Amino acid sequence: MSTDPDCLFCKIVAGKIPSRKVYEDDEILAFHDINPWAPVHFLMIPKAHIPSMAQLAPEHEALMGRMMLLAPRLALQEGCRPYPEGGFRLFTNTGADSRQEVHHLHIHVTGGPRPWLRG
Ligand code: AMP
Ligand code: ZN
Repeated sequence: MSTDPDCLFCKIVAGKIPSRKVYEDDEILAFHDINPWAPVHFLMIPKAHIPSMAQLAPEHEALMGRMMLLAPRLALQEGCRPYPEGGFRLFTNTGADSRQEVHHLHIHVTGGPRPWLRG
């Protein structure tokens, strides 16, 4: 599995930096964002170091599909209210124009009752 010793989220995957885990399996980790915008705000990442969506390749199709199917389940588990009154938002920043700060692919999941700090 590809990893980058200088990458913040690879260090979280390796347990070198602590995180508040939401979910873990052999290829996916989810943990609470350290600076939440909303009552629920966690990140879902592949354990493998993929810098952004721009580097996705056909071999990542199943992994990305699994993350999409996991998101609604984890959102409810973490306190998002059910659809349609509740729900959640997914977003993934890719590159400088999106203001991506951490260059290890991550999907933000935000939700919970409004108001939110941002978004
Ligand atoms: P982005 O701008 O999409 O790259 O977002 C990076 C996100 O990572 C931000 O929302 C940060 O608050 C979050 N973040 C940075 N460091 C940590 C950390 N050590 N643990 C959890 N979340 C973090
Ligand atoms: Zn990484």
